[in-house]
Amino acid sequence: MNSNEIDIHKELKKYFGFSQFKGLQEQVIKSILSQKNTFVIMPTGGGKSLCYQLPALIQEGTAIVVSPLIALMKNQVDAIRSLSSENGIAHVLNSSLTKTEITQVKADISSGLTKLLYVAPESLTKEEYVTFLRSVPISFVAIDEAHCISEWGHDFRPEYRNLKHIIKQLGDVPIIGLTATATPKVQEDILKNLDMSDATTFKASFNRPNLYYEVRTKTKNIESDIIRFIKQNKGKSGIIYCLSRKKVEAIAEVLQVNGISAVPYHAGLDAKTRAKHQDMFLMEDVEVVVATIAFGMGIDKPDVRFVIHHDIPKSLESYYQETGRAGRDGGEGHCLAYYSYKDVEKLEKFMSGKPVAEQEIGFALLQEVVAYAETSMSRRKFILHYFGEEFDSATGEGADMDDNVRNPKVKVEAQKEVVQL
Ligand code: ADP
Ligand code: MG
Repeated sequence: MNSNEIDIHKELKKYFGFSQFKGLQEQVIKSILSQKNTFVIMPTGGGKSLCYQLPALIQEGTAIVVSPLIALMKNQVDAIRSLSSENGIAHVLNSSLTKTEITQVKADISSGLTKLLYVAPESLTKEEYVTFLRSVPISFVAIDEAHCISEWGHDFRPEYRNLKHIIKQLGDVPIIGLTATATPKVQEDILKNLDMSDATTFKASFNRPNLYYEVRTKTKNIESDIIRFIKQNKGKSGIIYCLSRKKVEAIAEVLQVNGISAVPYHAGLDAKTRAKHQDMFLMEDVEVVVATIAFGMGIDKPDVRFVIHHDIPKSLESYYQETGRAGRDGGEGHCLAYYSYKDVEKLEKFMSGKPVAEQEIGFALLQEVVAYAETSMSRRKFILHYFGEEFDSATGEGADMDDNVRNPKVKVEAQKEVVQL
């Protein structure tokens, strides 16, 4: 099909009800429709799904979408089905299906009804599925959360490594990689692994101009410091991240004792309690959720006003993702991290039980966090540089939104000189 003949604005309205594309969506969709390998790097919430869903819906054949989480796939399939009168328009293919269901899925694909087929990477290793997919027209293969390919990403999945090999068996189909991980190292890995150095790359800016970044030295007064901060921000929603479940419980209790409405959230709590605490936060029955990093995936509360890291995160990538939950509505978002070298050592010790290769990557990622915490330069510039993005700390959007820029530190070198005089 000739992409020039399709009015993609009309299709956008028809299928999704939106009148405009968001960010780079239009360019991405045009690239996909022209059968090019395409690589999309956009922050979370940037609208990556639509980049492959729309071309899949309007092209002939079935698009295969590789996604790492069954829950994510189910959500997307339900969302697509709600846009159409045909249930068969989108399917999931995985090991949980019965024989009858598999027969139905195959029939819908063969008849041309199915436009999107969601698969987990491990399902694609099944010979039976690959043989079947070779026999039907495939429009393209989209690999969502493509950073799972890279050991430098925050969610490495060995099964993602085999994807290229399998896709090759499907014939000459375009590949679309999508990720919210912006580090150049991960991007290199993705392109290399999928063997698509020829891909047209679209990268959106990762700058979040409404977020204020601050690092404070962690002292034994951290708890009263956090309490003071929250009291100064009374009535606002916030998340406090801690490394351990024990710390989560302890901090939540300290806050409660001090008259702050807070609930704990971590994977050690039973599912019912977790769901209840999450709802309490979303419904604003409590102001603060104290959590391990188990909290946040898929949480879309637009008016989170602060994200506090009681302990340093394990990578700048995670820090960006976690702080990214603040100020989704474009309003104020204060990102405060407490830093002590003791915490770094704790994390290093924690990693020392892991395989050597993993350790080395872990240490390197952690060193970047240390450098971020200790820097005296614009924190926004530091983060964006880490993501391979140039930022002008004088004129860029949000340039004065960090502690280093607002209160420049006296340079350590300068102090030394004074002493020598
Ligand atoms: P990502 O995968 O990049 O994190 P999603 O694909 O989940 O982002 O999309 C985030 C949100 O943006 C969704 O609620 C989606 O409906 C919305 N969205 C996507 N494209 C548009 C658009 N063109 N106009 C308005 N909203 C959009
Ligand atoms: Mg997504």
